[in-house]
Amino acid sequence: MSNDFGEIGELLNRQYVLMPVRWRRGEPRLGMRFPPVGPTHVVAAGACPLCPERLGNGQAVVQLAAGPVDDESARLDAQGETYTAAAYLAHELCAQRFSESEIELTLKGLPPLVRQ
Ligand SMILES: [Zn+2]
Repeated sequence: MSNDFGEIGELLNRQYVLMPVRWRRGEPRLGMRFPPVGPTHVVAAGACPLCPERLGNGQAVVQLAAGPVDDESARLDAQGETYTAAAYLAHELCAQRFSESEIELTLKGLPPLVRQ
């Protein structure tokens, strides 16, 4: 399984920060937690998918698994298997503030996860 995402994530589309995670639908969406992101961090300018603020506003961030990044991961997802998913970086407090269904709807409205 290969993908194009870097180790620390890259700025794509509307400058959301995406990272690869191993995920299976139905499992907790929140992945690795990272310490508060300061204004000089490499992902500071990235946008939180759940609020209007930038990631670098001094809050802790978490990975938020979103969905398949390619045909192979989509096939595994459809079969209910674990696959490599794209995860948005989001503020931890934002991720805790919304329900799973609210997060699902929000992520569905974001730009495609695959590289242009
Ligand atoms: Zn936020």
